Parts: sequence; structure tokens; C-alpha cells
Amino acid sequence: MNYEKFFNEFIEESKNFFTEQVVETWLQKLKVKNIDGENVVLEAPNKFYKLWIEQNYLETLKKIFTEKFSITSNVIIKNANITLKRDNLKSDDSDKIANIVVKKETNLNKQYSFDNFVAGSSNQFAYTACLSVANGNFHTYNPLYIYGGVGLGKTHLLHAIGNKLLETKYKLKVLYIPSEQFTNEMITSIRKNKMEEFREKYRTIDILLFDDAQFLAGKERTTEEFFYTFNTLYDLQKQIVISCDKSPSELSHMEKRITSRFSWGLIVDIQPPSVEEKSAILLKIAELKNIKIDSNIAVYLAENLKTENNRELIGALIRLSAYSNFKNKQIDKDLICECLKKYLIEKNKIITIDDVLKEVTTYFNIKLHDLKSRKRTSSISYSRNIAIYILRKTLNLSLQEIGDIFGGRDHATILYSINKIENILKKDKELKYLIDTLIKNLYK
Ligand code: ADP
Ligand code: MG
Repeated sequence: MNYEKFFNEFIEESKNFFTEQVVETWLQKLKVKNIDGENVVLEAPNKFYKLWIEQNYLETLKKIFTEKFSITSNVIIKNANITLKRDNLKSDDSDKIANIVVKKETNLNKQYSFDNFVAGSSNQFAYTACLSVANGNFHTYNPLYIYGGVGLGKTHLLHAIGNKLLETKYKLKVLYIPSEQFTNEMITSIRKNKMEEFREKYRTIDILLFDDAQFLAGKERTTEEFFYTFNTLYDLQKQIVISCDKSPSELSHMEKRITSRFSWGLIVDIQPPSVEEKSAILLKIAELKNIKIDSNIAVYLAENLKTENNRELIGALIRLSAYSNFKNKQIDKDLICECLKKYLIEKNKIITIDDVLKEVTTYFNIKLHDLKSRKRTSSISYSRNIAIYILRKTLNLSLQEIGDIFGGRDHATILYSINKIENILKKDKELKYLIDTLIKNLYK
């Protein structure tokens, strides 16, 4: 294998994952020593480089080798036989290192910006609010609370705020922190008797970007510490941005005094993307990563991939691109089926009555027996009406056939249920989304 060519491609690809400075200072100085079925062996110029790269970039390097080069092996960094003492580092190297350390203090990942975020109706509100904070409009939305499912871009937006702010207001103290890291730091500080330092660090920030707040649930001591951090920053009119997988009112395992504070500012949600938005994301990522797909292919992927999660959507595209490089074939529908078969919706899957009933009872967490019964409590009859509506839409059963499933109801009762749902659907976007999702799940 031509290691030099491989290395050049690797450097090019790394630019999508790291800042120019990281690529230049650290990665360019590596050498590929060996690639076999199990390992990619890279050589670093000295021990210091080796340690730094291992501590900071190893996971991403593995990701690059897996996603871009389809090498799912270990990455081993060796150091060349020069033992270099720390003070032997050239001064320009230590300057660069110092620079990076400063960036590291913010925990910000340069990879995430507003430019490479695709805004659409599912995330428009969140996007606009974040952009406003990033443009320096603090206090208006304080705290800004963003919630939504996994892989929908919350972390991306938090980093984008920090990165954009620092472009112009570089003196601000910005800190991005996932709640789990906050917890770990706190535990270490308690252990080392350094709580004063910990508090000082968190209570002197100008912008706190707090990710995945749901992981505070059940951690009393951390929640309490976060509560005081929040209060101090809030009183000092510092900006707080919080992401979470649930709305404050759904955080039932968290103390009220915390969740009520989350609601003091602006709450915005991110919904799963529509087919149009998925296509736009795919085209944008393809453009950024130099992957050749046209809009027909993007729409085809958006319509047929099972996922509702942008991370998986992008992952599928990268996998497809690696596969197309490997096979030396251009990306078309055949190649998609070959490469992504298990991730595609099975259009010809035969749906049964039981599938529908199971989907509805699981979603609403009710018993099949109750769904079929004559019980008229509002939650049960609501779920029943939805089940009836979906049975009619997906299986095209007659009214009488549906009536028989639900304990011998007559066709007028069934028609009444269907009309009722159709009327609600005219105004209620959330119900439409729920029914679409339940139907989509049936085909997974
Ligand atoms: P979350 O924090 O909500 O779980 P992330 O922010 O980690 O999701 O997003 C997962 C991946 O998908 C990231 O690589 C992110 O850059 C990408 N992504 C998510 N939403 C978008 C979007 N609207 N436009 C571009 N990329 C996106
Ligand atoms: Mg996240």
C-alpha cells in the first residue's frame, strides 16, 4: 500500500474533523508506519506528541479511519526513537500548544458552526434563538432551553453559539460542558478538596453552554451544585443555554426548583426532520465532505432510511461514500440497497392487525385487553380511535371488520372514531406527527 498517498488522504479528511491548527501542529507530523487488518500504526515525532494525540484526538482518529477508510481497527501511536525532553521543544511549538490549551478551556469543538447547520421547520425556532444569543443578544432569552430527541442537533447548536461568539467577543469566558463532565469534575473536586476552585471556575463564566441536562436527574449533590451555579450566573445576568432530551415539565425525576428555573427564559424544541429537511442535510454534508450525490439520491435516502436522527442519517451517507470509494462505483439506488440494506424501510413488509395494535398499546402504555374493551376513559378511547384510524389507513379494512376487532362495535361507531381523528388532524400538527411516526414504525 502507498502509505504516502494514504497519509495525504487522511490529512485531507482530518480537516473536516479538526481545526487547521490541530492538523498542522499535530497530525501533519505523524507518519504511517503500518496498516494491516487489525492496526493502523502511526508514528509521532516524540513522546509528548504521542501522549497529546492519544489524550485528545485518538477517538476522532479512529472515527476517521472507520468512516472514511473503512478500517475498523485499532489506532496505535508509537513514538520515534528520539526521546525529547519537554524543555527541548522548540518555542514555536510551545506557543502553539499554549494556544490550543486556551481553546481547550472552552471545550468548544470548531467543527460545529451555524454555517454547517441546516435550518428547517423542525428546528427553525431553536436555530433562530441560538443565533440570536450567538450574536450577543443576551438576557432576552435567559436561560435558553433547547430540548429534543437524540441526534437532532442540540450539541451542534451549543457549540455553534460558543464558536460564533468567540469570533467577535473573544474576551468572553465561554464554557461548553456536558452535564456528565460537570458531575465528574465535581466528584474529583470533592475528592481532592478543591470545591472552592470548582465553584470559582463555574461561577465566573460569561456564557454557560450546559449540554444534556437530563443526566442531572437522580444526582442530588450535582443538581444542588448546578442549582447554585445557575443562580449565581443568573443573578450576575450571565447567559445560560441548556440542552435536554425532554421539556422541563417532563423532567419528573428532577427537583421542581431546578425545572422551574429552566422555564424562566425561552424554551424551544427541535422536532425530527421532515423528508425535505433530511434531503437538505444530506446535500449539505455531501457538499462539505466532497461526496458526490445529486438531489434525487438525497431525496431517495431521506425517504427510505429508517432513521429520524440526523446523526444516523449523516452516518449512513458517510458509510455509503466509503463503500462507493471502496467499490469504485458511483452512488446510485443499487449501490444504496447493497450498502445500506438493513437501514432501509421495507416497503413490501406485510403489516398485520396485531402489529398495529401492538404499536398503539406500546406507545400509549395500555393493555391490549383495555384497548379492545368497551372502556370509555378518555385516554383509552383516544388510543382506541387512533388504532382504528391507523387500521383503516394502513390495512384498508372495512368498517365492520374493524368493529369486530374491537368487541363487535357497529360500523357507525367505527366511522365516528375515524371522523373524530380526521377532524382533530385538520388542526393538530402534533397528532399528525404522532400518527405518521406510529405508521412509519410499523414498516421498520
Ligand atoms: P444531539 O446533541 O441533539 O443528540 P448532535 O448535535 O450531536 O445531536 O447532532 C448529531 C450529528 O448530526 C452531529 O454530527 C451534527 O453535526 C449533525 N446534525 C444534527 N442536526 C443537524 C442539522 N440540522 N444540520 C446539519 N447537521 C446536523
Ligand atoms: Mg448531544
